[in-house]
Amino acid sequence: MSEDKLTAFEAVNRYFGEAAAIIDLDEGMHSVLTTTYREISVQVPVRLDDGGLIVAQGYRVQHNGARGPYKGGIRYHPGADLEEIRALASLMTWKTALVDVPFGGAKGGITIDPSTLSSDELQRMTRRFMNGISHVIGIYRDIPAPDVNTSAQTMAWMMDAYGSTHGHSPAIVTGKPLALGGAPGREAATGRGVVDVLEAHAHATGMDLEGLRVAIQGFGNVGSFAAQEASRRGCLVVAISDQWGAVRCDTGLDIESALRATRAGAKVGELSGHHDVISNEELLTGPCDVLIPAALDEQLHEDNADAIQARVVVEAANYPTTPGGDKILGDRGVVVIPDVLANAGGVIGSYFEWTMNIQQFTWKQDRFNAELADMLQVAYAATASFAEEHHCTLRQAAFGIGIERVATASRLRGYI
Ligand code: NAD
Repeated sequence: MSEDKLTAFEAVNRYFGEAAAIIDLDEGMHSVLTTTYREISVQVPVRLDDGGLIVAQGYRVQHNGARGPYKGGIRYHPGADLEEIRALASLMTWKTALVDVPFGGAKGGITIDPSTLSSDELQRMTRRFMNGISHVIGIYRDIPAPDVNTSAQTMAWMMDAYGSTHGHSPAIVTGKPLALGGAPGREAATGRGVVDVLEAHAHATGMDLEGLRVAIQGFGNVGSFAAQEASRRGCLVVAISDQWGAVRCDTGLDIESALRATRAGAKVGELSGHHDVISNEELLTGPCDVLIPAALDEQLHEDNADAIQARVVVEAANYPTTPGGDKILGDRGVVVIPDVLANAGGVIGSYFEWTMNIQQFTWKQDRFNAELADMLQVAYAATASFAEEHHCTLRQAAFGIGIERVATASRLRGYI
């Protein structure tokens, strides 16, 4: 069977299997860690503004909690089904372990196109979903965060819904607005962290960020902050995109003006300036040194991996590369910095926010950014040295480190 025919969870478990073989993981632990601990599927009826009703389906999957409370984002997307959420929950387990924050892995979502809903409808849906999963959520049990098509506003509604029965609980979600206990730095942390990891890789391999041509797919929370940070550190961001279109300029796009325009509601394809409008596929396969997929799953696959011109792929999105695509990139010598390392700035920032909420104090943003960079540099160095020692890819190394840590915690607890 083609490796691109795997479901998302099968694909993540394929990556798991490659790393498990390197660390010689025993069969029992293998079975525990390739399945999920708990899966909740809830009906989410939403009363529409015009009096109509839709019934959406929502999920929370808790993959593994050996190292701490479950942690992971909430996604609103038509493709967010149980199998995808399982895959993303599993990735969270390896990510939190790799960067050594005291969390397990979880993910949640609602199978819906949120662009069809008004703000009031989104709020009603979010509250109903939070009520439906609140019996397995808790500040020492499971802490949601934003993901695709959810935001600080979504987290504010979730916090309020939870607080209405449990009392004021800012630590119940991370990625909140600053006015409600959010941490200065958290909103940008995932995208900023992507560039911290790229910089660590550049230092380790003798690459210069100055003038490095970067193409970024997705201009949402992660992609836009990654673009801003890459451009501030001297990279030429030559192409950006959103779900409606893409633009390219070989001498570098004006990212600050693109940010102003898109935050005011413009689509990337509508930006004014000296650039060409291109397709999303041209963004992925066009000339660049570094490609940063920062949108959705399965964007680099068997049918386009041969055409990728970048030397380095930094996986800002979760599971953007299928196993088939990963193999082709590896065979061609393209370095892939895996999602569990590349986008871990988000969960590190969430960890800072959660600890601040519990202790009721706030770091200044400079401290937040410095600690974030420090933890990512440590994780990059550990991953690179594991890869060197075991002659394996960075993905196999990152998974290998994460799996070993989770397996150790599970054994010490007597879980199996
Ligand atoms: P977002 O909803 O803020 O942005 C998603 C972006 O992708 C938007 O610009 C959207 O238009 C674009 N997009 C969607 N479909 C596309 C397509 N087919 N082609 C091109 N662009 C497309 O979401 P986000 O929070 O930035 O998340 C992006 C990725 O990063 C996801 O894989 C998510 O799981 C991962 N991630 C997010 C965080 C976080 O803190 N938000 C943390 C870690 C990982």
